[in-house]
Amino acid sequence: MTSLFEYAPAPESRSIVDIRPSYGLFVDGEFTDGTGTPLKTVNAATEEVLSEVATGSDADVDRAVRAARRAFVKVWGPMRPADRGKYLFRIARLLQERAREFAVLETLDNGKPIRESRDVDVPLAAAHFFYHAGWADKLEHAGLGPAPRPLGVAGQVIPWNFPLLMLAWKIAPALATGNTVVLKPAETTPLTALLFAEICQQADLPPGVVNIVTGAGETGRAVISHPDVDKVAFTGSTEVGRAIARAVAGTEKRLTLELGGKAANIVFDDAPIDQAVEGIVRGIFFNQGHVCCAGSRLLVQESVHDAVVAALQRRIGTLRVGDPMDKNTDLGAINSAEQLARIRELTAFGETEGATCWQPDGDLPDRGFWFKPTVFTDVSPAHRIARDEVFGPVLSVLTFRTPDEAVAKANNTTYGLSAGIWSEKGSRILKVTDQLRAGVVWANTFNEFDPTSPFGGYKQSGYGREGGRQGLAAYLRSDS
Ligand code: NAD
Ligand code: MG
Repeated sequence: MTSLFEYAPAPESRSIVDIRPSYGLFVDGEFTDGTGTPLKTVNAATEEVLSEVATGSDADVDRAVRAARRAFVKVWGPMRPADRGKYLFRIARLLQERAREFAVLETLDNGKPIRESRDVDVPLAAAHFFYHAGWADKLEHAGLGPAPRPLGVAGQVIPWNFPLLMLAWKIAPALATGNTVVLKPAETTPLTALLFAEICQQADLPPGVVNIVTGAGETGRAVISHPDVDKVAFTGSTEVGRAIARAVAGTEKRLTLELGGKAANIVFDDAPIDQAVEGIVRGIFFNQGHVCCAGSRLLVQESVHDAVVAALQRRIGTLRVGDPMDKNTDLGAINSAEQLARIRELTAFGETEGATCWQPDGDLPDRGFWFKPTVFTDVSPAHRIARDEVFGPVLSVLTFRTPDEAVAKANNTTYGLSAGIWSEKGSRILKVTDQLRAGVVWANTFNEFDPTSPFGGYKQSGYGREGGRQGLAAYLRSDS
């Protein structure tokens, strides 16, 4: 967009990655055909078809679950924990060795800027495997009972916003605790999961320990409802999460759900404005706002509202929107035509309900799926853009006068995944944090992730925690 300096393009090369014209399912250590109708996956920035990917039918899912069960009973369950850890360390190192390949493939399939896939998604995915590799032979010291045992076969369904990272959040703790896995990636972003399957082969992971079954919602439904699955882990929309909770109710299956959010990012009048603006930008424009814990509701103290909004608009004017493969790009493409339609629908409500919409000048590319960074001011808590998850680069700005009002407004949501506070006063940060009903609260930063730190929500944001010692509990039986 308009900026002081024009940058020359700095495109990352795509030649490092070989995308096959078609992919099968990864079952029992091998790629096999799927029996459903294949899906095409496209580059969100160009609408170019990248590859055709198999769809797993009920029968294919059954084969994958049986392979996972065999591997659990015969190999992975009985294996010495320290040996399981060695496989996880090996996978982590292979992810690092092939980091550039993963980053390029993630950006092509998802539309996110290469800077983010290179500096965030892939390193964090490797970090999750390193972290959990360390736990594999120390589980009896995790405070989860003297001899915690694996559950068995985990059925895992993940979304498209962090395809490889969500895979790591699911697979690393499951394997470290001795479970085996059937994972279904999202239909618009299956390619890095299939490259991960190659890593499993390269690491000589015993066949059946990890199975990757691609396909859309029906394939996901088959995974979570298979009777021989012991544990279901899902990340995605609240609507699908609810359907899964109903399907699992009354069975012996254990369930964790990581659903949406509508996080408050609270800026007090004593906060350093320039730092807060950086945090606001990072909170809502990171990954095009396709982030369940995005800081999509800015709560700003009334006395600094005008100064913060002006500084924010100036900063947004310098963000570079466009080719995700360009290393200078800040905002890439919206992941799919469907998601773009959803973002447009919700922002249209913002205008008809009376909020004021602001977008920077500049053009968007002609092909692909794009949405400008958008700020709504004059938003009231009753507006849909203040209540519904947009899951796009759209910020709603509300104001408050006192800390109590900030807390009341922040908690006035059906979600409770994350929140942010900007203030120079430590005592205020501690007091407000204590009153927020959110799983993660960031102070003077936002969207900071670490495998050692548990992540998860309250209310309609789901239940269970991922990461940290708490995340291990979801994959272990502690009654011994
Ligand atoms: P979704 O919930 O439909 O899809 C997530 C995953 O669930 C995909 O792998 C999908 O194939 C699978 N799935 C769909 N129906 C299923 C079913 N009945 N049983 C089992 N698996 C099923 O999400 P979406 O349609 O891609 O996005 C819709 C909205 O969800 C977004 O606008 C956003 O608000 C929210 N969302 C949240 C997250 C998150 O990280 N919490 C991620 C993606 C989307
Ligand atoms: Mg795609």
